[in-house]
Amino acid sequence: MTSWPVYLDYAATTPVDPDVARAMSACLSDAEAFGNPASRLHAFGRAAEARVEQARGQVAALIGAVADDIIWTSGATEADNLAVIGAARYRSGVGRHVVTALTEHPAVLDACGYLERNGFTVTRLAPDAGGIIDPAVVEAALTPETVLVSIMHVNNEIGVIQDIAAIGAVCRARDVLFHVDAAQSAAHLPVDVMVQSIDLASLSAQKMYGPKGIGALYLNRDRIRRVEPLMFGGGQERGLRPGTVPTHQVVGMGEACRIVAGRRTKDATRISALRDRLWTGIGALPGVLRNGDPERCVAHILNVSVTGVEGESLHLALHDLAVSAGSACTTLDDAPSAVLRSLGRSDQLARASVRFSLGRPTTAADIDRAIATFHGAVGHLRAIAPSAGIALA
Ligand SMILES: *Cc1c(COP(=O)(O)O)cnc(C)c1O
Repeated sequence: MTSWPVYLDYAATTPVDPDVARAMSACLSDAEAFGNPASRLHAFGRAAEARVEQARGQVAALIGAVADDIIWTSGATEADNLAVIGAARYRSGVGRHVVTALTEHPAVLDACGYLERNGFTVTRLAPDAGGIIDPAVVEAALTPETVLVSIMHVNNEIGVIQDIAAIGAVCRARDVLFHVDAAQSAAHLPVDVMVQSIDLASLSAQKMYGPKGIGALYLNRDRIRRVEPLMFGGGQERGLRPGTVPTHQVVGMGEACRIVAGRRTKDATRISALRDRLWTGIGALPGVLRNGDPERCVAHILNVSVTGVEGESLHLALHDLAVSAGSACTTLDDAPSAVLRSLGRSDQLARASVRFSLGRPTTAADIDRAIATFHGAVGHLRAIAPSAGIALA
């Protein structure tokens, strides 16, 4: 038995779309496009620059922005850091208070921790039991010192969708900058920086069938002229993110965004039906609890906790499925998921949790295999330690 596990970890990363791979490969092998896009004095540089600018337009179009407001980064981690640290520092003359949530990605939370160690005050809002941050709670947290609010669109562990437009309106009314980590939403839901009053947004190509190592920060220049850079060097990306722009990477991200724009709605309909099939199948087992508000969940994520089983045993028993415990970003330490703990889940339930995440290649047969594997694993664990169910539940 050497069959590969069923891949249900698309929230950790997606495979590269074949059209994206073709566009990148064509760029890499094009004898006229290898120039440095900053070399404006010759045709080689200008050919590369034209591709970079076309890709910038494709990324901007996906989120209702103008191309000039897109800055290339190495991914959403860097975009989050640049947004949170760079915007807070840029506005530090106005105040030194930042508002975020306990359920944010570590790239935001740890950037906030860094600010805290450097003279800022950070408020980390608790979600309700479904993982939702009430816009009224955001409003109540604002003080005259607040310069930035950072709330993600879709949570990477539990999939809940925040009411970004309402939170954006609150921030706009109080002239506070609003950053949104949209890494987990852009491939699945409409993102419109104008309609949703977003001032800064983070994107990652590898979450939308593009290559790893490339992302973007959207910066609303009507609201914030610049951010304090985190790196120093040549003047690329208007000095906000120096370093030679990797033409083939940004071409890949641009193509990935173009493809997403054309199929996002259809994909979400098909994928959410498969996700519902998965939940119907595994939720039929007693003691399997769904994490996060099911009415406000993105199409591709299903997070569950299992009563009466031990987390590590559960994950080992599910070796036939490529899934995550919590999120890929936090599995390097073995603390229980902070996101699930913030929803009020016990230590046992936070540990005995599984995140399934679906993608374009996922089929009904994959889902049925996942359901059967899950039933087998939970049944086996409960059979060998039947009393644990009572003790831990
Ligand atoms: C994946 C992810 C990131 C990090 O993206 P990278 O491309 O790995 O830097 C940040 N935020 C969220 C919500 C994510 O899902």
